[in-house]
Formats: sequence, C-alpha cells, structure tokens
Amino acid sequence: MSAAPDRMHRPDNELVDLVFDYMRERLQYDPVPLDHPGDGEHLRAQLSGLLNQDGNNPADVLKLYDHELSRAVISADSPRYLSFIPCAPTKAALLFDMVVSCASLQGISWLEAAGAIAAENQVLRLIADRAGMPETAGGTFVSGGSAGNLSALVVARDTARRRLGVGPEARLRIAVADQVHSSVKNTFNIIGVEAFKVPTVNRRFTGEALRAALAADPNPETVIAVVGTGGTTNEGIVDDLAGLAEVARERDLWFHVDGAYGGAGLFAPSVRERYNGIEHADSFVVDPHKWLFAPFDCAALIYRNPQLARAVHTQDASYLDVLHTEGDEWNPTDYAYHLTRRARGLPLWFSLAVHGVQAYTDAIEAGLTLARETAQLIRETDHLELLFDPQLSAVCFKRTGWTNEDYYRWSQQLLADQIGFVTPTGWDGETVARFAFLHPGTTMEMVKEILDTMV
Ligand SMILES: *Cc1c(COP(=O)(O)O)cnc(C)c1O
Repeated sequence: MSAAPDRMHRPDNELVDLVFDYMRERLQYDPVPLDHPGDGEHLRAQLSGLLNQDGNNPADVLKLYDHELSRAVISADSPRYLSFIPCAPTKAALLFDMVVSCASLQGISWLEAAGAIAAENQVLRLIADRAGMPETAGGTFVSGGSAGNLSALVVARDTARRRLGVGPEARLRIAVADQVHSSVKNTFNIIGVEAFKVPTVNRRFTGEALRAALAADPNPETVIAVVGTGGTTNEGIVDDLAGLAEVARERDLWFHVDGAYGGAGLFAPSVRERYNGIEHADSFVVDPHKWLFAPFDCAALIYRNPQLARAVHTQDASYLDVLHTEGDEWNPTDYAYHLTRRARGLPLWFSLAVHGVQAYTDAIEAGLTLARETAQLIRETDHLELLFDPQLSAVCFKRTGWTNEDYYRWSQQLLADQIGFVTPTGWDGETVARFAFLHPGTTMEMVKEILDTMV
C-alpha cells in the first residue's frame, strides 16, 4: 500500500518542537550576528541531492540551514548592519509574522478575511492620520515600495487618461527629479510613461523648480503627475512636498509621495515638519519593513481617493464575482496590481497594539539621534569629511585621500571581521562611505569602532 497522501498535513509535534526550538534560539540572539557573504560552489555542494524522492531527516535539514545557509545571509536585523536600508523588526512583529504563516492568513477579500483586513486597515488609518490624509483615504499593504509605486502610478496614468479623454497611444509624462528611486524609473518602463526630469536645488526636488520646468516646456499638458520623495534612499533628503503639492494643484497633476524609506519620519517629532505638504498626496507609500520595524515584506500604500484605485485594479473574472457582492466592505486586492496576498500588515498591527505608538516614535528618534551624533563625530575628525548635514538617518562621508578601491577593501574587511556591514555608495560620481541607521540597538560605540578602522 502506498503511503497516505495527507502524511505531510497531519499534526507532527516532533517537527513543531524542532522548528520552534530553532525559532526560539534565533529570537534570543543578542546581538544578532552579522554573518557572511556566500560562496556559490560551497552552497551548491551542500544542497546537492537534497530534493530527492523520499525526503530527509528534518533535523538534518534544519542543521544544514542553521550551519550553512543561514550563515551565508547577512542579517539585516543586526545592529551592525548599516548598509542600504536595514530591517530591524520588533520581536512582537516577528512573532506575529509566524502567526500569519501558521494560520495561512490571507487578506484578499472581505468575504474571506474580514478580521485580518479590519486590523490591517486600522494600521493604514493610523499612518494616513499621521500624514494628515482625509477620512476617506485607504489602500492596502503590498510587498514593497516598488510594488506600491507601480500600483499607485498606474492609477495616476489611467485617471489622467480618463480626464484627458486619451487612449494608450497618447504620450504621457510624470515629473521626477534625479534622485527619485530606481523603482519609479522601472515603473515608467512598465506602464509606458516618460520621465519629465526636473533639476534639483541642493539635491531637493522643489515646487519652484517644477513650476519653472513646466513653464519652459512646449507640451506641459502631457505631464500628468509628480513624484516627490520623502526621503531619498541614499541621502535621506525629503523633497519640498508642500511646494510640489501646490504645483500639482495648479496643474491638476496626480501627486505621489514615495516615502518607502523615510515615511516613518511622520512618527518622529524632530523631523515631522519636513513632511509638510504630504497631506495633499493623492497616493503615498511607506515601507514598514524599513523604518517601522516590521519584517519583510511589507509596504503600506494609501490613496486619497481609493475609488480611483479600485476602478483601475479590480480584477474581472467570473470566479471572483462573488467577492464583489453585498457587504464587500473592503477588498485589499482591489487597490494594487496583486490578487492573492498575505495579510502582511498584521505583524505591524500586533506590534503597534502591544507596544503603543510612543515606542515607535522613540525607536525612530533613536536612529535620527545616531545620525546626528555620527555627523558630529565625523566633523570633529580630521581625516573624515561630512558631505551634508543628515536630514534623516543616512550619513554620507569621505575619508580624505581614499580611492574607490580603498572603500571597497575597507568595507569587505569590516564584514570579514564582523565589525559592521557598511557598503560604499556614489556621490557626484565619487565613491564615498555611508551609514544608514535604523536599528535602535546600534550604539555610538559601534560607530566609533567602525570609524576607527578608517585611519
Ligand atoms: C526602498 C525604496 C523603494 C523600494 O522599496 P522596496 O520595498 O525595496 O520595493 C522605493 N523608494 C524608496 C525611496 C526606497 O527607499
């Protein structure tokens, strides 16, 4: 007789204990080790033959993961991870992510998942309130800023097409500055619009520059939207959102704010003022998997007028008709290009409910303070040069006399020594050093330890 087909689906306490023990250990690492880059040949050799007909002993598979695979993943939640944008989920959020997984929680439609959606929407409402968006605002959680930007700008495009009475053949442009995130440029390729490039003023996209650029252009009516960034990923610069919003109103442009990284600053009193004008956004994205301490992958996408998004994104298929009958209070699937979606807003919801908003404010302010103190230390150090006063939690600086190769060698050595993960970045065509602070457990001692290696 062949083995029962449901043998993988039956309760298995041994497996539960095995995996839970591992998770308990991982959650208690203090500090989380940085770990290392991987060697492809070694990893492939370790994995060789694993996916066979009959499976393997779970303890052996978990050991392989723990000893080999997990060591070749640099821990984004280490307080010494200061590259790109780190991810430092709260323990409550991490734990609840496991609940979302073990209960197969989805958040597609009200019919199927009202409880999960009500909780997710509570978080979206909190964020919308911080931004000053109206009561009618709403949206959904998507996988990341890239997915959020794409979903929002499709709505901008289609709303403009309807307003102008034009079809897909019409040339449409969206105003951006140089430092706009690469995902917005990708979005333009995907949705068939062109960039209307506006020069920055001190690296900031201002309303005045936008107004001047539109006035100088022979076809300003083809510009249908503007994307402001709050703040830029590399430098943490918040655009002149109030000025951009004003021009958007004058010209009937869709105003999208990409706050994937910096949107969390709405919760930080010391920088809140920089975001003034965001209350006029037609759409807004912030990644809780960045500075709102949620696990991957989680971005909040909020529209001023969600009906416009629903008109664009609702999927039409006969097997889905039942979702759009009486009582379909809110279907998250209708507000982005996705259909199936994990209830990925719930880990943030649980953590916010447990810890309260003030704990978030404190943790975000900690990153801002680290950036300010690091900037001061760099100013006071002879062989280091601060490139600008940090506005959020990114700090870019130079080591006088260093070449490109020096920065890369230094960065690799820091990681090899497990002192820090600090990758170089570009600045006006030069290679420079950059910290992105986010983890509230990062200390100035760690920063000094890193800077001391730049002698
Ligand atoms: C990170 C980032 C994105 C992309 O977000 P993902 O979550 O990586 O898809 C977009 N815009 C800005 C400003 C970002 O910092």
